[in-house]
Amino acid sequence: MHSFNYHKATSVADAAARLAASDDAKLLAGGQTLIAAMKMRLASPVEIVDLGGIAELRGIKIESGNLVIGAMTTHAEVAGSKEVAKSIPALSILAGSIGDRMVRNMGTMGGSVANNDPAADYPAAVVGLGATVITNKRRIGADDFFTGMYETALQPGEIITSISFPVPKRAGYGKFKNPASRYAMVGVFVAETANGARVAVTGAGPSVFRVPDMEKALAKSFTAAAVKGIKVPSGELNTDIHASAEYRAHLVGVMAGRAVEQALAGK
Ligand SMILES: Cc1cc2nc3c(=O)[nH]c(=O)nc-3n(C[C@H](O)[C@H](O)[C@H](O)COP(=O)(O)OP(=O)(O)OC[C@H]3O[C@@H](n4cnc5c(N)ncnc54)[C@H](O)[C@@H]3O)c2cc1C
Repeated sequence: MHSFNYHKATSVADAAARLAASDDAKLLAGGQTLIAAMKMRLASPVEIVDLGGIAELRGIKIESGNLVIGAMTTHAEVAGSKEVAKSIPALSILAGSIGDRMVRNMGTMGGSVANNDPAADYPAAVVGLGATVITNKRRIGADDFFTGMYETALQPGEIITSISFPVPKRAGYGKFKNPASRYAMVGVFVAETANGARVAVTGAGPSVFRVPDMEKALAKSFTAAAVKGIKVPSGELNTDIHASAEYRAHLVGVMAGRAVEQALAGK
């Protein structure tokens, strides 16, 4: 039987001090991944630092034209927020597509982004919108944050406090769900931003990635027809019991087209 200390942090500074005091401490957010990993003995931290009591990590606000969402904001809160629906409706749709009701009520944006599951939805929005991940130590641009399968630029002891999303002209999210878990078999986030078009794909490869050919085509003409026929090489995509790399490559094209249509419809 594995035993561990549990600490309910009262502030970000308190959580950071606890992390610094132990070689084997883990932050607990919604617990939807961490608790399952502990049950399966894939993780056995000696110290759990619960972020659930820290009010400063929750909430959704507009700050200098950016939508800023606290790390402990749940998927259900993002999906139900009028502010999100008004500024980035594609983000509401994405949050509402995550898992099931329990997962959406417990899982958090910070936990999802820190975990960087290859099939998670939020990484597509973070990269697709060119967001900034804000930690207790620094600000990290989306393109530098997700470094590989379950890997991020976060350093030991670093805590995500919020994510700042620039509000795009329009955006859309096309997701082909795994029918059992509802994780993304392939999810494509497209956005028309002040700095051009962005296309970010989750679920298909080891980690979220951009598709420059689609971005160039959408910069010329932001239409579903513009991305039609643009192929993503299947060489580095995932093959597993759910789908082959070739099937995933095909889905990227289909989901990109649907994401553009959703963006144009403004829903
Ligand atoms: C049945 C099921 C279905 C799911 N379906 C989907 C889906 O369709 N799409 C999808 O995207 N996700 C899905 N998820 C994942 C879920 O939505 C959560 O996002 C995910 O479990 C992690 O968030 P959490 O808040 O539960 O984090 P936790 O499990 O508490 O933590 C996960 C990891 O992140 C670290 N961490 C947490 N918060 C921070 C922080 N603020 N700073 C730094 N590190 C931190 C923890 O230490 C831990 O290593 C599903 C999960 C389940 C169980």
